[in-house]
Amino acid sequence: MKKIVFILLLLIVAVPLYAEQVFYTRGSSDIKEIALSFDDGPGLNTKDILKILDKKDVKATFFLLGTSVVKRPKLVKEIYSKGHELANHTYNHMNFFRYDEETGKEEKIKEELLSCQDLIRDITGYRTKLVRFPHGYLREDAIEIAKETNYKIINWTFGIDWERDLDQEEMLKLYLENAKPGTIFLMHDLQKNPKIVKMLPALIDKLKEKKYNFVTVGEMINKRNQEEKL
Ligand SMILES: [Zn+2]
Repeated sequence: MKKIVFILLLLIVAVPLYAEQVFYTRGSSDIKEIALSFDDGPGLNTKDILKILDKKDVKATFFLLGTSVVKRPKLVKEIYSKGHELANHTYNHMNFFRYDEETGKEEKIKEELLSCQDLIRDITGYRTKLVRFPHGYLREDAIEIAKETNYKIINWTFGIDWERDLDQEEMLKLYLENAKPGTIFLMHDLQKNPKIVKMLPALIDKLKEKKYNFVTVGEMINKRNQEEKL
């Protein structure tokens, strides 16, 4: 009985998430593609990351934070003009998991999402289509808002760059071990992080050697949707 209840609960939670294609943590596991994503910028590490991506001819997805966009609008234009994908990481990086349910959480989430959307659109003309809520926030309210505002919620398959104890070699090893077809990698570009700058070229080279293609998150999930429709 307990097992049946568990399965039913799982279906109630999982089916709306996947059936309506609102939430993703990865692309198709049948296509040898990797998506690199960078959160919280544009920031102090963005320029170095852009140089590496340019040199390696790789396009990535930047989940931009409103408070960072206001500080560095030129860098937002630069990311966009280089052909990378711009995505929404909300305006203030609030932790909605802790936000008081009683005081209009839903309105707050929507406001955080749409104010960042407007900001990015004012600078680039591009209307972001993907959102990653801070701290990977995912509850029914976020899913409803995403549907209503025509966004896809994107979390990630693997990320570890915030672990201060790891040196760049250990970090590289962990990213490589977790690279599988359809993986979305998470890294951050707000703070200076020489480890990412040192690790990233090797990560890209090694994955190219293994015949992985690099795509943006948007491209990756579009392909997965097409595949699932067949
Ligand atoms: Zn973040």
